[in-house]
Amino acid sequence: MSFWQARSGWLPGKAEVVVIGGGLLGVSAAYWLAEAGLEPLLLEAGVPGTGASGRNAGFVGPGLALSYQQAVATLGRAQAREVYRSTLGNVDLVRQLVAKEDIDCELSTDGQLSLALEQGQWDAKRKQAELLAADGFPTDVVEREELARFIGTPVAAHVAGGLYRPNAMSINPMRLVSALTHAARRRGAQIMTGVQVRSIAHINGRIHLETSTGPLNCAAAVVAVNAWTPALVPQTAGLVTPARAQMLAYAPAAPVFHAPTGASVSPTGEYWRQLADGRIIVGGRRDLDVGFATTAQTPTDEVQAAVEQVLPGLFPELDLPPVTTRWAGAMARTPDQLPIAGPVPDVPRAWFALGCNGHGVAFAAFLGHALAQAVIDGHMPDALRPFSLDRPTLNGPSG
Ligand SMILES: Cc1cc2nc3c(=O)[nH]c(=O)nc-3n(C[C@H](O)[C@H](O)[C@H](O)COP(=O)(O)OP(=O)(O)OC[C@H]3O[C@@H](n4cnc5c(N)ncnc54)[C@H](O)[C@@H]3O)c2cc1C
Repeated sequence: MSFWQARSGWLPGKAEVVVIGGGLLGVSAAYWLAEAGLEPLLLEAGVPGTGASGRNAGFVGPGLALSYQQAVATLGRAQAREVYRSTLGNVDLVRQLVAKEDIDCELSTDGQLSLALEQGQWDAKRKQAELLAADGFPTDVVEREELARFIGTPVAAHVAGGLYRPNAMSINPMRLVSALTHAARRRGAQIMTGVQVRSIAHINGRIHLETSTGPLNCAAAVVAVNAWTPALVPQTAGLVTPARAQMLAYAPAAPVFHAPTGASVSPTGEYWRQLADGRIIVGGRRDLDVGFATTAQTPTDEVQAAVEQVLPGLFPELDLPPVTTRWAGAMARTPDQLPIAGPVPDVPRAWFALGCNGHGVAFAAFLGHALAQAVIDGHMPDALRPFSLDRPTLNGPSG
């Protein structure tokens, strides 16, 4: 930065509340802060949607990255039930926001199908359905011969059946982020793009930010930089691992998939949906990228080649058109696969959240709302307690 750039006055110099990061989480925090009349300033290193929020598959589902059995083992039955219930609320929050702001983000309410491959996965899925039903969350068990309701092509012999969640939705995620950014701005938020925040500290009773465009002071802050969090909140280093998730899109095809669908072809999971214009988008095979913790958002040949094998391996008669687009996005993983949220250590009145482990569309909307509430109330909302930085499963031997 030159002498002049450091004094450019491009940044306002001070602001009441600053939101760092323009993904769905940051944009929704800015939206709710502006809705409460606080005129937040949002700083984004790229443009809104540069990170995972503009690159994901658009599944908007209840639940977590963990299966319900795993959530019960990690959180205990009562808290797992509470958290799962709240994730149903997250889906509703997205639905309500879309309706309230009249957002055209191609919202579809077709539910979500999760396929079981081989008997072992099928047994586990049936157990999951039983446990969910016992806790008041009925899920539809779909026998193999009923899959034709959802999939208009024969399935391979190892596809045993599936679970269907009717209350899940899908969206065009970039449209949601863009529309929410505009809605925040209309309500008084200032959005500044191309500004990278380099550090956040508490100095003389104020929050001090060093940015690529000069320094800035504020009274409160929300850190919403997901995979990039360790750079700003060093206490999360070692707990948050960035991971690259990759997708591709095929040219339009005749309708085959009537609901967004997932399957664990690999341990890290595969997922696909067919859009209204006939394009099928598919992602997964992160297993081939493990050990390569990166915030790089560029696709790689090995993973892309494996993603291309996912649908042919499950649907032998599917006639796929050529691939037109390939992309990658940075997500944030945590040791117990649950998000982290709460006060930024050593920086009073700064709050942060991240780490939805690839399941953050509905969750980010909720976390953004909760962090806005934390800024307004000056304390951590109860709903964030299961996600605190000092929980034993994050830091303890089982984490
Ligand atoms: C390929 C892929 C598929 C996925 N599919 C799904 C799905 O179908 N359903 C689902 O629920 N979830 C999915 N996810 C996960 C979901 O996208 C994320 O959980 C969610 O978008 C996280 O939102 P966020 O706002 O926390 O983070 P991000 O969207 O990553 O936003 C963080 C922002 O911070 C900015 N930033 C970083 N550092 C700085 C800095 N120092 N200063 C200023 N700005 C900074 C970045 O540019 C970025 O825009 C997927 C993710 C990927 C990558």
